[in-house]
Amino acid sequence: MSYCFPPPKPNFCPHCGLPLEERYIPEEGRERLVCAQGHIFYLNPKVVVSVVAVREGRVLLLRRAIEPRRGYWTLPGGYMEIDESVEGCALRETHEETGLNVRLAGLLTILSRPAPTGPGIVSIVFWGETQDGELHIGPEVLEARFFSPQEIPWDALAYDTVREALRTYLAKQKELGAHPPTST
Ligand SMILES: [Zn+2]
Repeated sequence: MSYCFPPPKPNFCPHCGLPLEERYIPEEGRERLVCAQGHIFYLNPKVVVSVVAVREGRVLLLRRAIEPRRGYWTLPGGYMEIDESVEGCALRETHEETGLNVRLAGLLTILSRPAPTGPGIVSIVFWGETQDGELHIGPEVLEARFFSPQEIPWDALAYDTVREALRTYLAKQKELGAHPPTST
């Protein structure tokens, strides 16, 4: 996943093509983007779906090959498409970025990072076990590997949402019924 920060605002109305300007809407009690014909453009958060994908108690992290945050570690995940479910997005992103299939075990957490201090996203994080198979990294990934809890590169994580998702996973591991790391 990569966040566009700050979140972009459109300049033109998608209904009629006239310029949009910020105007106070008394009925809604806040400023909105409005065109001269009165069409309101609602600026809502984007949905990002990620997965804490686990194998033998180790979590899968990917090192980003693209800016922003090139070289930093992140979870498999990305922006949800308009024509897919959250679960479908989780499976698709994990497969595109790593070649692995994951069996989703459940919802881990939901995080929000509101604009303007954040990128204006809702981050939905699942967890699950990866199925057998070899790692085949996609073009947006430099490297992918499984980390035991002790090995997680906390100082080199790409986003605070990744940090928070991993902390939540480690704190809930027992309650989730996740297997502890094997010693091999
Ligand atoms: Zn318009």
